[in-house]
Amino acid sequence: MSERKVRVRFAPSPTGALHIGGVRTALYNYLFARQHGGDMIFRIEDTDSQRFVPGAEAYIIESLEWLGIKFDEGVSYGGEYGPYRQSERKEIYRKYVDRLLENGKAYIAFDTPEELDAKRQEVSNFQYDASTRMQMRNSLTLSKDEVNALIAEGKQYVVRFKIEPGEDIQVNDLIRGEVVINSSVLDDKVLYKSADNLPTYHLANIVDDHLMEVSHVIRGEEWLPSAPLHVLLYRAFGWEDTMPRFAHLPLLLKPDGKGKLSKRDGDRLGFPVFPLEWHDPKTGEVSSGYRESGYLPEAVVNFLALLGWNPGNDQEIMSMDELVRLFSLEKCSKSGAKFDYEKGKWFNHKYIQLKSDEELADLFLPLLAEKGITADKSVVARIISLVKGRVSFVKELWDQTAFFFIAPDTYEEKSVKKRWKEETPAQMTELIDILESLPDFTSAPAEKEVLTWIEGKGYHLGNVMNAFRLAVVGECKGPHMFDITEIMGKDETISRIRKAIERLS
Ligand code: GLU
Repeated sequence: MSERKVRVRFAPSPTGALHIGGVRTALYNYLFARQHGGDMIFRIEDTDSQRFVPGAEAYIIESLEWLGIKFDEGVSYGGEYGPYRQSERKEIYRKYVDRLLENGKAYIAFDTPEELDAKRQEVSNFQYDASTRMQMRNSLTLSKDEVNALIAEGKQYVVRFKIEPGEDIQVNDLIRGEVVINSSVLDDKVLYKSADNLPTYHLANIVDDHLMEVSHVIRGEEWLPSAPLHVLLYRAFGWEDTMPRFAHLPLLLKPDGKGKLSKRDGDRLGFPVFPLEWHDPKTGEVSSGYRESGYLPEAVVNFLALLGWNPGNDQEIMSMDELVRLFSLEKCSKSGAKFDYEKGKWFNHKYIQLKSDEELADLFLPLLAEKGITADKSVVARIISLVKGRVSFVKELWDQTAFFFIAPDTYEEKSVKKRWKEETPAQMTELIDILESLPDFTSAPAEKEVLTWIEGKGYHLGNVMNAFRLAVVGECKGPHMFDITEIMGKDETISRIRKAIERLS
């Protein structure tokens, strides 16, 4: 069994936007598959037509593509185990439902919703199981002829799993170790509904994992309670030998306090819980996404990878390839992972620094274009090189660099009061002459000449340089003055000083 080929699947239900926790599940599956040279399958679990949301499937595909999480087979990828959309596999499931019925592992139940309600009123904590099933209307209590007659009449029914009570069921989880649950706490789960000729999640999930030769089921903790039932289903089919190994990932917790991370936490604290912006087709509500908020996909991947796993040391920055190399289910934590979105911003900052100035220019140029600014990519790249250490998002580049593209019209008042003295206009006029005469306008030589002039005249260094900066930038902030003027060029620098002399005198 150990030489079995690794095949994992990401199997979302298309019920809305993919939550960030679901993205992490997909990522861990992907890392595990890559590391073992295995296959990663994309399956759509859409047997619950009530909860189907149009657009959700395409959204999930686009999200994972954006993040670089790739599949080998599945919906929209193709493959030999298809179809990969459960709604297209009805006939397959029906066959397996019949097999359980024939083996006596399942039975047909005709109880109407009203009858079930009545029973719930009558018996407190009613559960449809070994203790109650013989009081109900099903193929265990009715004769074969009665059952056949009801079906022939067109009566709707469900197929229920016949769970034998009093048995300890072991789930060997690769993260949690051995989890034991007694079968008496389980109810006779509905596996199939005649009304829509569709199986429920549990049956479809097990049949597909078996037929698709899934070796490992890596999924969120919320599915752990279903695992004992799934073990029983594998047994009922006689598939114990090829049962996948389970790994249930820890919950993502609220950034503050306890409990599961929810969309409301994101709204409340101002961070996205979805990879991409999501337009809910039913309510029209728009929810923010990591992509639209300016996160780099590499940063999101790195951030998510460390929510519930770590490499065993304090290394934090890891590329997808490194993650593939280092990831292990054994190092996943059992306890929930606090969703620290400030850390997410920190990762984005780090990944911005890892990008070349040219790459950042490519990302920044469209934002400039939106503001009606066209600029040369090489110039924009040089500008970015001066400020990138100060930003965590590409959009923040605008605040840092706007003065390059738009000459100041006003000057920050406090600094003007402090730095623009009586003698300043004359000094600035002299400065213009110095700058004009410079044969080399690059940063270091220009700085040397200007400082020599200030020193030679005995001027106040701080006042002159800050007045210069006010004239060029509009405030007393920004990168090194002569790095700015080198990129800005002599003509523009001088014209800004002239304008300031005019405006401020
Ligand atoms: N369809 C389930 C979901 O939406 C799949 C759970 C599993 O991976 O077994 O997450």
